[in-house]
Amino acid sequence: MKAGQMARVATAVSQSVRTQTTPILSNFIGGKFVESSASDYFYATNPGTGEKSVGTPEDSTDTEIGIAVKAAVEAFPSWSRTPVSKRVSIMFRLKEAVTNDLDNLAGLVRKELGKTPADARGDVVRGLEVLEYSCGVASQLAGSSLPNFSTNIDVTQRREPLGVCLGIAPFNFPAMIPLWMFPLAISCGNTFILKPSELVPSACSRLAELAVDAGVPAGVLNIVHGRRRTVESLIAREEIKAVSFVGSTEVGTSVYTSATATGKRAQCNLGAKNHAVVMPDADPKQAAKQIVGAAFGASGQRCMALSTVVLVGDAAKVLDNLVEGAESLKVGIDDDADMGPVVTPRAKARVEKLIQSGKEQGASIVLDGTKREHPDKGGNFIYPTIIDDVKPDMEVYKQEIFGPVLVCLRAKTLKDALDLVNSNPYGNGAAIFTSSGSNARIFESEVKSGQVGINVPIPLGPPQMGFTGSAGSMLGDLPFYGQSGVQFFTKPKNVVSRWVDQDPSLSSTVIPVSR
Ligand code: NAD
Repeated sequence: MKAGQMARVATAVSQSVRTQTTPILSNFIGGKFVESSASDYFYATNPGTGEKSVGTPEDSTDTEIGIAVKAAVEAFPSWSRTPVSKRVSIMFRLKEAVTNDLDNLAGLVRKELGKTPADARGDVVRGLEVLEYSCGVASQLAGSSLPNFSTNIDVTQRREPLGVCLGIAPFNFPAMIPLWMFPLAISCGNTFILKPSELVPSACSRLAELAVDAGVPAGVLNIVHGRRRTVESLIAREEIKAVSFVGSTEVGTSVYTSATATGKRAQCNLGAKNHAVVMPDADPKQAAKQIVGAAFGASGQRCMALSTVVLVGDAAKVLDNLVEGAESLKVGIDDDADMGPVVTPRAKARVEKLIQSGKEQGASIVLDGTKREHPDKGGNFIYPTIIDDVKPDMEVYKQEIFGPVLVCLRAKTLKDALDLVNSNPYGNGAAIFTSSGSNARIFESEVKSGQVGINVPIPLGPPQMGFTGSAGSMLGDLPFYGQSGVQFFTKPKNVVSRWVDQDPSLSSTVIPVSR
């Protein structure tokens, strides 16, 4: 990030530690940035250079968490009664503010995650789309009515906000995923506490600054930094009514279990292992180009990364195109790079260990990224790796690698390929590359994934459709954003009314039935 950009999160930086070399981000509670009294800090690191970028409290204290919850609880009555048209006009201003700040936000994403310039902008833009959707929430909140459903009796159903909602964000989309969460929650009339990923916290602080500028009232959006203890302490609060989580399967399962055990509703988007099935009738060059982009973009650190390819029959010829495409990618943090580093040295070591396990378990490493050393020694760079002859019992298949590694399996028929994809415990996304409408049609109806691509490698729909997932990739019934997002952040209330002066049935002891 350029020097000017650091200044753009200046209000989030603690006064007393400004003199230190690494700035510390404050919590954002009740409309103000408030320095944590935590004694330990976690330092996010620029993954391209290894330099510390910003610190956050290792965990916020219970007192601070209590103050944030209180601020959100106290803001709720007035915010939830604020006319939806007024709430939405604030969201329009926030959308404008985020749009004007796009370059700055993308710079923060780039600095803390090492995404390429275009990908960092994409991170913000995809989030902005959900923010735009939130500006139209009034029509989603319109409710329904059934006049005279029984003699002289009308019923209306309205949707009401829940109260205080909590969002827990992962590292891999520092702007997009927080924007999946809080704009829709607050435009529905809830108040919100956001727990950013400690690895990439600055974009969230900047969004809070923009929310203040847009007129989001104090206490409606709060940010609490920390890690496991902070999350556990927040989830234990009975004032919190709903939890939105995006992250790993292990953590998300535990978050879902503890949130629902205390009566909260929860939507948890988890890990993935997305498959591309390549049919012999697919155009090999086109298919390979798309798979290379989707497997190695963002260094494979997307939940929709196309990390597994299933080559059906003669489609094996695509492998040469895949290797050629992957070899040609430029790795680094320069403006013209195709992919950057992985997030931490620990993530790099884990990915390299998994590649090694592939070698040991008998797979063929047809492109070995671990053999190439990046000239920028401070960064966590791994060159693209392609592993062929992978079998379902190998670690490289069983685990979500979340790095620039594509694993290849073979199948004889489309049915075999579908059996393989559907036996995988995850179900985030799957794609087929084919020139046959009938293959596409079979795949579309048989595959058990939340998002399905037909000659589209990363099948992300528009914000109106929500982001779904199935099997082990999602816990909860209501996917993020879209109509289901509005349902998640609101609860229905039925109002049954009778307005007649004389009705002989008024004192009946019999259960009412529609007449
Ligand atoms: P993570 O689970 O490590 O962290 C997610 C959040 O949980 C962070 O805010 C973190 O501070 C917090 N956390 C970490 N450990 C915790 C614990 N023990 N208890 C409570 N909270 C804890 O995930 P990550 O590494 O930041 O993100 C990568 C993962 O997210 C991948 O598995 C990826 O597939 C998944 N992801 C899924 C989707 C989706 O929509 N399905 C989208 C993006 C990312």
